[in-house]
Amino acid sequence: MELKVLEKTPFSLRLLVKGISLHTLNSIRRIILSEVPTMAIDYVIFIENSSVFYDEYISHRLGLIPLRSDIAYDKYKPPEECIEIGETQQYPPDCFAKFDLEVEGPEEGIRVVYSGDLVASDPDVVPVYNNIPLFKLIKGQKVKFEAYARLGRGKEHAKWSPVSIAVHKYVPNILINEQECTGCGKCVDACPKNILELTNGKARVKNQVLYECTMCKLCEKVCEVRAIKVSHVENEYILYLEFTGALSPKKTLIEASNILIKKLDDFEEKLKSMGVLQ
Ligand code: SF4
Ligand code: SF4
Repeated sequence: MELKVLEKTPFSLRLLVKGISLHTLNSIRRIILSEVPTMAIDYVIFIENSSVFYDEYISHRLGLIPLRSDIAYDKYKPPEECIEIGETQQYPPDCFAKFDLEVEGPEEGIRVVYSGDLVASDPDVVPVYNNIPLFKLIKGQKVKFEAYARLGRGKEHAKWSPVSIAVHKYVPNILINEQECTGCGKCVDACPKNILELTNGKARVKNQVLYECTMCKLCEKVCEVRAIKVSHVENEYILYLEFTGALSPKKTLIEASNILIKKLDDFEEKLKSMGVLQ
């Protein structure tokens, strides 16, 4: 397998992946979405709430705050060992990171309460962004609660997924028959992604933007002499991931690979125990 980084920012990654089957790549993509654990708030105990926002509304917003989870991964117990404990309202520190909040409305105007106002018990588990608005208060209103975050997986609720986008697509292969091309320019005008240009009276692919091609085949449709053909490269794909910031891209990919390997090992063991494999 060959990997090439096409684009990398702190919160996104575009990879060119060669020499891998679509099924394997899709398995990795789905594991990233639904199996790699992160921390998220799952239980909230309201001590006081005289705001106009329901307890449930505030709890839901708290759950969706991405929390830094890289270190939490080795610090807290896996989700399977903590779900039941939380439901019995026991929050042991090896399962849960605690957040406190006690805020009151101002004498004048409106106070917006942000994710950064939460007081975290564990400095390794804090909101990725401090500027996420949670709710608003005016004079005389007060909110006080304790919130508990635990490790969870995206398959249980999307709030635990380390990515907001995880997609793959084919690598386009655009062939232009220069003998047939009349240089009419219709394909250039039709392309919604501006992939094509005319050079010396012939259509040509702008190599630097080839990966932007959506393979819509509009260029093929408008070419009267059928000089342009769009297909895809076998066993090459583009994987695009957008991260919530809960886990680093590196940690997310390594954990997804480890989880896939473990699943395959377990599958092999089961087959052996059933006598299907020797
Ligand atoms: S539409 Fe066909 S003939 Fe016209 S420039 Fe494009 S490839 Fe060439
Ligand atoms: S397939 Fe669509 S996006 Fe790709 S070059 Fe043709 S018109 Fe442009």
